[in-house]
Amino acid sequence: MSVGVNGRAYELPRQPTVVITIDGCEPDYLDDALARGLMPHLQALLAAGGAYERGRAHMPTLTNPNNLSIVTGVPPNVHGISGNHCLLDARSEPVQLVEPEFLRAETIHSAMRRTGCVVLAVTAKDKLRRLLGSGGVASVSAECAASLSLPEFGIEDIPSAVGRPPPSIYDWDLSHYALEIGLAAHRRRAVDLLYVSLTDYVQHKQPPGGEMADRFHRRLDDVLGAYVEAGFRIGVTADHGMHAKPRIHFLEDCLREAGFSADSFQVVLPITDPYVVHHGALGSFAWVYLASTDQVPAARNVLASLAGVEEVYTRAEASVVYEHPVDRIGDLSVAADADTALGQSAAKHDLSLVAGGLRSHGGRHEQIVPIIVSQPLTAAYAARHRRGVANSDVHDLLLNGVGELRR
Ligand SMILES: [Zn+2]
Repeated sequence: MSVGVNGRAYELPRQPTVVITIDGCEPDYLDDALARGLMPHLQALLAAGGAYERGRAHMPTLTNPNNLSIVTGVPPNVHGISGNHCLLDARSEPVQLVEPEFLRAETIHSAMRRTGCVVLAVTAKDKLRRLLGSGGVASVSAECAASLSLPEFGIEDIPSAVGRPPPSIYDWDLSHYALEIGLAAHRRRAVDLLYVSLTDYVQHKQPPGGEMADRFHRRLDDVLGAYVEAGFRIGVTADHGMHAKPRIHFLEDCLREAGFSADSFQVVLPITDPYVVHHGALGSFAWVYLASTDQVPAARNVLASLAGVEEVYTRAEASVVYEHPVDRIGDLSVAADADTALGQSAAKHDLSLVAGGLRSHGGRHEQIVPIIVSQPLTAAYAARHRRGVANSDVHDLLLNGVGELRR
């Protein structure tokens, strides 16, 4: 039995199956935690034939575009979510891309639900909840757990089902709470396909080996162990990596200094979301809208000359190179290197929010992410996995690529 979604067939789950997206999981976090013995359950899964390879996230390496790629199995030019935030037309104000009507593709969970499977999506950050709930999928956030319920699972009060009150959006263990909600729901009514998306507050604040980062990974491993115990087949990936970004270019200031009049352009930062303490709305990707297409070559030259800017593409080029929806991107797409973040103007960003040093994402250098499947893959899928897949392939690997269960 299988179901077709966005051009690919997925076998129906044969056991409880979960994909966990560790927000901002630069592979070094897991490699370092495994090397220091902080993640014994993950270590045991890999030793028993689970597979861990590095793969790639989609551009821009931001939370909403990649979470939607993971749950639809397709790139942003198909699902339509080009950023956390974008302009729907050049004369409008930017909007947060958080509503299901912005989504142009069905999710795998919605299709599975139509076949009668029990599905659930849990997100740490509420900004993903409505998108993940598209197509009638039960969907809750840890952030708003105190005011949400899960009637499909007989849960009126989420904190009492989990057994503790939800942490705040700026606590280190909000991600673990999202995973605990998934387990609590499964205890009430067995889930066939579960999606749990974490939050990257810890990754924005500490590199691998930081005290809070270590606490995060130890607790993550405990919860992974609980999922194994509950009989889950587990896929793990990330929406993007994470790097320290000591250099910041403010693109509006740069364009003004180069002679562009203030009303001739608009800089839109697709990383923008309500969680400014994470990143101060600074990441390695930006869109520039220009009043006239005649200005495109000159603006491109100014932006491409900035130290640390690696790619500047026109709208038509970016739609091909990044697989972006052509109507939801700027006249120019700008991507910077691992060390460089892009802002609007110095006056518009409160750098005190990231006073401990900016760590962020958005560009090519955060495209490398872990892709882990808890059980042995068939030879064909194992070969594909080793050659390099995208995070949007994780449901294909997990549902179609696992061989017979070993007992
Ligand atoms: Zn993210």
